[in-house]
Amino acid sequence: MLRLLAIVIPVATLAIWLLISTLSKFYAEQAIARDAGHKALHWGEYMSERVPELEQLIATGIPSPEQKQIIRQIRTLGDVFRFKLFDANGRLVLVSDENSISNPVGVSAEHDPETMTAVRTRKSVIAVRDGAETNGWPDLYAEAYVPLLDDLGRIAGIIEVYVDVTSTETYFEESFDKFGVIVSFASALLFLLPAVGFAMQRRTAHRSLEEVEYLSRYDPLTGLANRAEFTRRAGALHADGKLSSLLFIDADKFKTINDTHGHAVGDAFLAQLGRILTSQTEACDIVARFGGDEFVVAFCGLRTEMLEPRVRAILKQCAQPLLADGVSITGSVSIGVAIASEGNSLQDTIAQADAALYFSKSEGRNQFAIYGDSMGEQLRRRVELETLVRNAAENETFTLDYQPLVAGDDFHPIGYEALLRLKREDGTFVPPVEFIPLAEDMGLIDKIGRWVIYTATRAISLQAGELKIAVNLSAVQFRRGDLPEIVADALARSGLPANRLELEITESLLLGDDPFVLFQIDTLRDMGVGIAMDDFGTGYSSLGYLWRYGFDRIKIDRSFVAGLLDNPERSLEILDSVVMLGKKLGMKVTAEGVETEEQSKLLTKLGCDVLQGYMFGRPAPLPDVPGSRETPETVSPPLSREA
Ligand code: C2E
Ligand code: CA
Ligand code: CA
Repeated sequence: MLRLLAIVIPVATLAIWLLISTLSKFYAEQAIARDAGHKALHWGEYMSERVPELEQLIATGIPSPEQKQIIRQIRTLGDVFRFKLFDANGRLVLVSDENSISNPVGVSAEHDPETMTAVRTRKSVIAVRDGAETNGWPDLYAEAYVPLLDDLGRIAGIIEVYVDVTSTETYFEESFDKFGVIVSFASALLFLLPAVGFAMQRRTAHRSLEEVEYLSRYDPLTGLANRAEFTRRAGALHADGKLSSLLFIDADKFKTINDTHGHAVGDAFLAQLGRILTSQTEACDIVARFGGDEFVVAFCGLRTEMLEPRVRAILKQCAQPLLADGVSITGSVSIGVAIASEGNSLQDTIAQADAALYFSKSEGRNQFAIYGDSMGEQLRRRVELETLVRNAAENETFTLDYQPLVAGDDFHPIGYEALLRLKREDGTFVPPVEFIPLAEDMGLIDKIGRWVIYTATRAISLQAGELKIAVNLSAVQFRRGDLPEIVADALARSGLPANRLELEITESLLLGDDPFVLFQIDTLRDMGVGIAMDDFGTGYSSLGYLWRYGFDRIKIDRSFVAGLLDNPERSLEILDSVVMLGKKLGMKVTAEGVETEEQSKLLTKLGCDVLQGYMFGRPAPLPDVPGSRETPETVSPPLSREA
């Protein structure tokens, strides 16, 4: 570009200079003619005024001594170097030269067209002539034919004055030359500035083109290939028969990381995952980010027996605490694996890995699945289930079963736990452990959970007596921060006192130790709502949590209760310590899954406040107890409440 400018600018300058000098020559000639004309006219008029008895002179052609003297005087003044006198008919009567005044009477001026024009029009005629060829004459001179009019306005004669305009010409030419040079340089500069600007713009454009080109192929966050680039390169690998297997990788609960720690941390976490994937691949493998928290790896020639160890290594590394934007994040990924084969296109292989990922996710987190034929059937079932959940959430066709809660000492009923039910078309029920995680993944648990809160509080408020209701919560329901508000609204609408509602949350929710969650729990407790820790003993039970969150109740997981039959001594020990612990921390204790009298007796002896299990009643619709209160007018749960 600059090389081009180095040629273009001098050429353009020269062209401008040529143009300007041509133009200036033209204008100089015009200006000279005008100047010469003025001078000649001036002298012509001066002569007609100063030369006495001019008519006489014209008539005779012979100047008197007095006239001669004035003519000589005039000739020595100014730039006039010659003049002629013509009579009214255009005949030349007198020629004055520097050295002599001649009298050419009889010389016809018929051929002097300017004289005739001046006679005819009675107006001055001016001509600029080149005198370089004539010896002793100036290089440039002007001839002015000035008509002499008598008192009546008739033509008396014509004076032709010759004026030397060489100096004027020199002056004009020099000026125009200077002007031309200045203008040429100025325009060169003027040209140069936009040209440089243009060049710079071109350069920037070129650079952004490169950037666009980069962006069109790579993911800016991780620096990995994007989907298009992956498809191109993996396609080539596949065509060469070098594609051995393909991984579809998805970060588990990425939304939670993003929501809890912000996007900067989320982005840094993804970049870390990208680094791990790159570190686990060879140069000829392709690692790509497909968008969001999805990554794809294409292995070239990785031996099948090496595939599983490699996948496990990736899972392991991704489950280590990672430093993301200064925050230590412990996440995990799920991986779908597809083995490439000649019969399958690249798109087929990607689709299989995607299906395997989907399958792996439905089986839990931090896992991998290798695509297999049985997967198709399982995936079909999952898609069916998703449809079922989506429809139930939309049409509010979930139902609630209520399982009795009884007092630990005399087994008198004290309330119910509300348990969500989803009916298939064939009338059978989908277990909550299957559809609840799915609803969480689908982002529907908020809406469904809200419906449970409104429905359960309303239902229990319609029952006779002061029965309590326990409602299960998903961690996701704390994400928006409006849970206390929803609960307060449900209580207000149902008229249920806050102390008759207990919310059950699982330990996994508290793992994050999130002040946002803590605050909502505090608010709920301040309202008088009870908070229970569900499934105690199954998760990462920590005394710290129990203490920090100040639960009202611990619900001992039914696996410990079941253990009373298989391993009585050990289970008794554990149950005993949990009940003791609860008492020390001021918490009540519920034992779940009580199925036999033997269990119930032992639990009563241990001092459990509340018992729950098939022995006292299976989850079922609420009984239509006679004397149930009528539906109060104010109670109409806004089921479709959207925030
Ligand atoms: P959970 O909160 O521990 O609920 C108790 C589960 O134990 C229920 O299973 C109940 O049917 C079962 N159960 C009760 N007594 C016995 C017994 O004596 N023996 C045996 N073997 N099982 C007994 P269900 O209804 O399948 O619910 C499973 C889980 O689904 C619940 O566990 C709870 O975590 C979740 N869930 C249920 N409803 C909701 C809901 O409305 N929201 C949320 N977020 N989770 C829910
Ligand atoms: Ca529960
Ligand atoms: Ca439980």
